[in-house]
Amino acid sequence: MQGALGALSIVSAVCLLILSILIGIRANKTLSGRFFLIFNLVATAWLIISYGTILNSQGVITEYGVGIVLLRASYGVGALVLYFLLLFCLYFPNYLFSRLKASALIVSATVIACGAFVISFLPSFIPSYTINHESELILASYGHAQYVYWVCLALIIIAVVYALTKQYIHSKDIIRIQVRYLFIGISLSVAFVLTTDLLLPAISQSDVTANFGQFGVLFFVAFAAFAILKHHLLDIKVIATESLVVILALILLIDAMLSKTIGTAILKWSIFVIVCFIGYRLIKSVLSEIRQKEQLQQLSNQLKSANQRLKEIDAMKTEFVSMASHELLTPISAIEGYLSMIVEEHLVTITDPKAKKYLDNIYASSRRLARLVGDLLNVSRIEQGRLALQKQVLNVDDLITQVIAELKFRAQERRMTMMPNLRIQGQAAMTYGDADKIKEVLVNLAGNSIKYTPEGGKIIITADLWPTQQVEARYQQMASHVQRNGAHTGDGALQKIVNDKYTQAVGDKQIVIAVADNGIGISPEDIGHLFQKFSRVGDWSTQEVQGTGLGLYISRALVELHHGRIWAESPGVKKGTIFYFSLPLAAYKTQVEALDAQVPKAKDAKPLARMGGGPAAKV
Ligand code: ADP
Repeated sequence: MQGALGALSIVSAVCLLILSILIGIRANKTLSGRFFLIFNLVATAWLIISYGTILNSQGVITEYGVGIVLLRASYGVGALVLYFLLLFCLYFPNYLFSRLKASALIVSATVIACGAFVISFLPSFIPSYTINHESELILASYGHAQYVYWVCLALIIIAVVYALTKQYIHSKDIIRIQVRYLFIGISLSVAFVLTTDLLLPAISQSDVTANFGQFGVLFFVAFAAFAILKHHLLDIKVIATESLVVILALILLIDAMLSKTIGTAILKWSIFVIVCFIGYRLIKSVLSEIRQKEQLQQLSNQLKSANQRLKEIDAMKTEFVSMASHELLTPISAIEGYLSMIVEEHLVTITDPKAKKYLDNIYASSRRLARLVGDLLNVSRIEQGRLALQKQVLNVDDLITQVIAELKFRAQERRMTMMPNLRIQGQAAMTYGDADKIKEVLVNLAGNSIKYTPEGGKIIITADLWPTQQVEARYQQMASHVQRNGAHTGDGALQKIVNDKYTQAVGDKQIVIAVADNGIGISPEDIGHLFQKFSRVGDWSTQEVQGTGLGLYISRALVELHHGRIWAESPGVKKGTIFYFSLPLAAYKTQVEALDAQVPKAKDAKPLARMGGGPAAKV
């Protein structure tokens, strides 16, 4: 039993030594790395001394004087192991303490550790010992000095726990994980020592396990090494390669040194040299591969943080737009209101035709301004997830009829016809949604048709029932078109602006509303740029028509908030355009509600901002 223990001690000591050298080479630039190296070396010495005491218990060491020094040294060096553990914890992973505090802590810990070390060698600590030759165990008798020794040890342990707790509180993310590993390692080590040295002997009434205690340190070393390398996890590969090469070279070296004839010596030494050379190349190549990976990792981290920063700036921008448009709302509404009293309600008599013309222009501009501010406010509400939705069961046909009635006069002014084509009735025409928002989409689309169709044109608003698959297929057709035509994903082309839960399609059939005109049409390349913020397409004549370039962006968000899809199709320039959007059937209300319930609701949600004189003003 003790023989096996001795062998285990030696193997552990050698492993610890190799590990300390390898980690020491890698991490010796930092203070914590150096302390870890020293800690490992002292722990190695401790294991070797423990091996000495085992040899003593087996009767290999016959000198009583050597035996007692070894026994005392195992306590003395044990205190030093704890002392270097403390130094390591003071600096790993964070440099938490100020220079002054760290110095004070280190000086007092040094005094205490040296005290414990010296005490352990005093005759009053372990005055004598006997060996139970049957069980091969050393039975030490302890003197009064032991109390001072244990107090010193307890003080160092308290300091270690204090340093670790502070490290844990002040760290986050990966660093916190590292501290956690240290905690686990130390706890396992302590638990192991307590179990083998105190608990098991007490339960089994035998000291057989008492010599296992020193191996507890291996738990800590393993966890600490992992915690250090967690920063550079890839380094494990190098350490593994290096360890393999070193062990192989060592075996070959010993083998070569033991060769009996010149012939085998030449052969073995040559193999040794070749293996060393290949090993060296191998380590170098692994190192360079890891450096490359590290660089890549660094770049990807930089990219991640830049992306995060961009998102923050974007959120700040949305916040600013929201605040600014909110502040603009009151004065603009006042200007528009007073102008409306003068221009539309004729509450003030203006006789000068020039003044009247100027006022008309000012009124039209103020309405456009109000419309822009309203749109901006709506965009920020949508992007911040603060748009209040009040869904209910609605008849789509009614909504279409209402919108046509509201836009009829504007269409008539431009000698256009606007007709409904309602192919669904009853339950098939019932959707579950927010009437205001659906009407806003309809007004945007029908208003655009009026704007972008020459005088005398024709607009038809159709409501029909489509299989969901067909809706998806047609939508995808445009989506792939958008990608083909080079709209960047970052510019919001088909980027999700509403929560994913809202965009999940519901039911196997959907109501599809199509707004078709025979106007200026849209070229295939331009279709790829629709539905983006501030995107206005077409040639200069289109640009002459007043608009904000926000209508389709808002419409897309509103449709997506209803689990629908929106897309455009046009045979080409001057060949008219059809805008489609889908809505779920009211029959699937429960599914819609279940999905919507999964989206967190903003406390300060607001309805759509309506400015610029109602639907007709959009045109
Ligand atoms: P706005 O109309 O305020 O410019 P929208 O987001 O509503 O903004 O529309 C974006 C662009 O899409 C328009 O500027 C126009 O170029 C194009 N567009 C929209 N509807 C039509 C249509 N029915 N026919 C042709 N082009 C259209």
